[in-house]
Amino acid sequence: MVYLKTEEEIELIRESSLLVGKTLAEVAKLIKPGVTPLELDAVAEEFIKDHGAIPGFKGYNGFPNTLCTSVNDQVVHGIPSNQPIENGSVISVDCGVVLNGFYGDVAYTFEVGEVSDEIHQLLETTKECLRKGVAAAVAGNRIGDIGYEIQKHAEDNGYGVVRELVGHGLGKNLHEAPEVPNYGRRGSGMKLKEGLVLAIEPMINLGKRNVKQAADGWTIVTADGLVSAHFEHDVVVRKDQVEVLSTHEWIEEVLKNKVNII
Ligand code: MG
Ligand code: MG
Repeated sequence: MVYLKTEEEIELIRESSLLVGKTLAEVAKLIKPGVTPLELDAVAEEFIKDHGAIPGFKGYNGFPNTLCTSVNDQVVHGIPSNQPIENGSVISVDCGVVLNGFYGDVAYTFEVGEVSDEIHQLLETTKECLRKGVAAAVAGNRIGDIGYEIQKHAEDNGYGVVRELVGHGLGKNLHEAPEVPNYGRRGSGMKLKEGLVLAIEPMINLGKRNVKQAADGWTIVTADGLVSAHFEHDVVVRKDQVEVLSTHEWIEEVLKNKVNII
């Protein structure tokens, strides 16, 4: 079942999405070698609750925490641990909230300390994949057009596109129809209509596309052990253009100021 949202509902999803962006900006302040994912998780949970919202992931299908924190070869759905993150690592932080009955769902992959040029480039390209996929979410296009843009840009740069996990519709439920694969053929799949709200979230691997599930039953890791990156926005399909409801702006503001301090 695909739900097209009213303007009122879209505003509520925007509020939820923006709160996730603010939560991730709080997390961004703490990212440095030595911090533990569980410390990030505690700060995010408190921030969300202080803003009158409910952590969207905690308890979802039994997930134990507020954040999914996925380090290095972990792609998504990592459970926050008390293992300090090391210089040169990356950590994908995915967060959801429920506010006024609607979900927001946003992810950002952070560099921890100094990362290699190779890893920095993977993160930049994955952000570009997100931008290109988002730009294709226009009324009259099809789901496959989003995946095509993401896949083409990733593979042109020699990266692997994860296929087992996908973006999704978003609203009163965290995962609504339709699925939004990060690969696809132009002109294939469901036609996009105005008012469709989607979470678009490329997961791009430095190496091959294959992934496997870790023993904890949650964490998805790359099969070849190489680093993976993940960025996510919530958007609404409009006529002639897409509207991005979430923002990474506050996160990037924090990161920019950190660099200036060093
Ligand atoms: Mg997410
Ligand atoms: Mg999502």
